[in-house]
Amino acid sequence: MLVIKRLMTRYMPGMLTCQQVDRFLYDYHEGQLSFAENIKFKFHLSMCTDCQAYVSGYKQTIASIKASEQIEQRPEKIPEDLVQAILKSIKR
Ligand SMILES: [Zn+2]
Repeated sequence: MLVIKRLMTRYMPGMLTCQQVDRFLYDYHEGQLSFAENIKFKFHLSMCTDCQAYVSGYKQTIASIKASEQIEQRPEKIPEDLVQAILKSIKR
């Protein structure tokens, strides 16, 4: 697979290398790639298991960051009267 990848990146014009996929990954995830870049990115992914693993790891990292942000924001979402009720029950 690695040999095929090397041949393709050498002989196919516009074919992304793994380094370029790495650079495009943030923009891809944010939906900032152009149509052509998006096609090239997905084409590289379809034949490169290294980048597939890398992208799925990246997505998991983003998902866990977003999940932890939600946990941090949660205290602000507790209604004020609930906080007061909890405080009263502690004081008793
Ligand atoms: Zn790759």
